[in-house]
Amino acid sequence: MPRRPAPLIAAFLLALAALQAVAAPAPLILVSLDGFHPDYLDRGHAPTLRRLADAGTRAQWMVPAFPTLTFPNHYTVVTGLDPDEHGIVHNTMFDPALGEFRLANRAAVGDGRWWGGVPVWVAAARAGLRTATLFWPGSEAEIAGMRPHDWRPYDGRMLPGARVDQVLAWLDRPAEQRPTFMTLYFELVDTVGHAEGPRSKRLDAAVAATDRALARLVRGLEARAMLDAVNLVIVSDHGMAATSARRIVRLDRIVDRDHVVVRYFGTIVPVEPVAGREAAVAQALVGQHRGMRCWRKEQLPARFRHGAHPRVAPIICLADVGWTIADAEWVANNRDWRGGGAHGYDNHDPSMRALFVAHGPAFRRGQVVDPIEARGVHGVLLGALGLPAAAPVAQPARIEAILAPAAPPR
Ligand code: AMP
Ligand code: ZN
Ligand code: ZN
Repeated sequence: MPRRPAPLIAAFLLALAALQAVAAPAPLILVSLDGFHPDYLDRGHAPTLRRLADAGTRAQWMVPAFPTLTFPNHYTVVTGLDPDEHGIVHNTMFDPALGEFRLANRAAVGDGRWWGGVPVWVAAARAGLRTATLFWPGSEAEIAGMRPHDWRPYDGRMLPGARVDQVLAWLDRPAEQRPTFMTLYFELVDTVGHAEGPRSKRLDAAVAATDRALARLVRGLEARAMLDAVNLVIVSDHGMAATSARRIVRLDRIVDRDHVVVRYFGTIVPVEPVAGREAAVAQALVGQHRGMRCWRKEQLPARFRHGAHPRVAPIICLADVGWTIADAEWVANNRDWRGGGAHGYDNHDPSMRALFVAHGPAFRRGQVVDPIEARGVHGVLLGALGLPAAAPVAQPARIEAILAPAAPPR
């Protein structure tokens, strides 16, 4: 048999490499503005975000997953799964095998056994793409056997500008080390929303400061002639509702405090009856009270798609919008509290709506689409990266309306 001439093989390999270069997806940066209600866009303090939204695709709003808390929703965005499916059912939760999960508990947050599903950085890495996260819930844990190629332990003190500069530095790397999927996270709007409420002057200032960080990112991309070559998906995880010291439900006046374990007070309160007191606790709590409603986990309204996971406590109490569930100890520890803002309420309440903006070559330009669900964003991310979905994605029609039609093969 005649040997194949080497130059032919080399030409073939070159052509293959060229083809791959053509097919390589544009870098995708997933940005989270924690607690950013989409109405904030219309208050005149976010000119950069407004410009990106007008030039790209904006959803009227994003419907967060239930519960409308930070960890459950961030992880829904990157996995396409509801909290009941991915297992991060609350910011504070208990698992008989793993113990207690809290945001401040670094060991728990970094333990992959809490985190189900396949986050988009794992899907990207499996397809041979590099990934880098500048904070994202789940990014500190080894999930499905891996972490992002570059990641950092969460540090709320790292300045917004420094976070942006790190992402720009990643983009400056030589092609083989440059991440294709990146995340950026900003908590300031949420922090100030809690402290001062969603309609405060300081909230406007926090929106303006966060917008300046986005402007720094946009300027950095423009300086590299990359603004139209990079895909940006900018979301929030939930909105914010005004709370008040006059709207407090005292759980301990409804149920004997010694009959329940409660790890978290606020808007969505998981209640674990102690052994032998299950019936009495359910009897006292289940139903509507002034400022809150409680359900057995099996009887939560179907639209929450919540309650099947073993980590969901037997009884779930949900405050009415604007109310806070507390006990005597909470009140004693929060004597000076005059109210502010909170989330965790019903995910279909308008106050809990979240943000969705997409800008870049993968997305249609200059349109507003109908609301997208948090679990639908995953399909948008996979689409922008050119990755196939492992399972049917939520909201395929909405995703198609957001993604630019695929370029014809060259
Ligand atoms: P929430 O209690 O739902 O308002 O959570 C918002 C807070 O979550 C932020 O202010 C941060 O303190 C915290 N947080 C956000 N991302 C992370 C992370 N990756 N690791 C640990 N804590 C985080
Ligand atoms: Zn949040
Ligand atoms: Zn918050």
